[in-house]
Amino acid sequence: MSSPPPAGQLLAPDHPYWEKCARHQNKHTTRFVAHLFLCDGCAERLRRECFNDRPPMFEGLAIDGFCALCNRRQMVLLRQWFVCQICLGVVLAYPKTFAASQAVHNFWTTQIVRDFPNLRLEETEIVRLEPFIPGRRTQRRKSESVTFLDFAAFDVGLDDNPLAFHIEMKAGPGSIENMKQFQLDINDSNDVATVCNNSGIPAYIFHVQVGEEHAPPTRHSVARGMWWTDCFRLQEHLQNVKPRRGEEDKHAGYYCPGAFRVMDDFLEELRNRGYLALRERLAREPLPTR
Ligand SMILES: [Zn+2]
Ligand SMILES: [Zn+2]
Repeated sequence: MSSPPPAGQLLAPDHPYWEKCARHQNKHTTRFVAHLFLCDGCAERLRRECFNDRPPMFEGLAIDGFCALCNRRQMVLLRQWFVCQICLGVVLAYPKTFAASQAVHNFWTTQIVRDFPNLRLEETEIVRLEPFIPGRRTQRRKSESVTFLDFAAFDVGLDDNPLAFHIEMKAGPGSIENMKQFQLDINDSNDVATVCNNSGIPAYIFHVQVGEEHAPPTRHSVARGMWWTDCFRLQEHLQNVKPRRGEEDKHAGYYCPGAFRVMDDFLEELRNRGYLALRERLAREPLPTR
């Protein structure tokens, strides 16, 4: 392995990783070039955390636009790296997850903080940028060992256990209102069940609709809607389990979207401390895993 050139330097044709995917830790040939408009902070972060510290082959064309990682409008530069198409799909999904997570924080700050000073939200599973390491387990979490989902909410008014509920966040392009079936990977539904059963604390599932807005030549991900359900209600709306299209080794559960409700109802759920009733139910009736 040759050591990477210092920051600021560009990848040159005589570099050992020329025409190699930047996200693949090993030498994986690709001639596909990713074009990403990024702010300086995100370019640095992407390079260090995701691209094995390999420099871009081009950096320039500064423009006022949206960063393709943090979604913020600011001065961004076009950066080009060799990235294979599979890894590009992963990189392009990061801003969608960031937008969804931001939407959950915004909902909490604008709708919940004032009326529920007893509740506190914590992001417990922060989105990590990762390189592709061949042979390493690609599954995000190992089901047996997970103790938290994406967010956890604490109720300081509870004296025994302040952990009130977990939140599993799912980001997708669709609106619940127009959806035929809501899809959740079996790995994810098993994580929800395991975390709930092990902690004795219920989970809510948030679906955040995330779309893309173009401000050529830049674009960014925008949250357009949010819906919620709880771990039991979702389970009761399971219609079938089948392989994911194009990925026969991965199964997903398909649910009736009627499981989900509008966010105004979530405030009602909190007012009633519905999570305490769910906690009692969970003690009697553990969630199934598959
Ligand atoms: Zn950025
Ligand atoms: Zn790759």
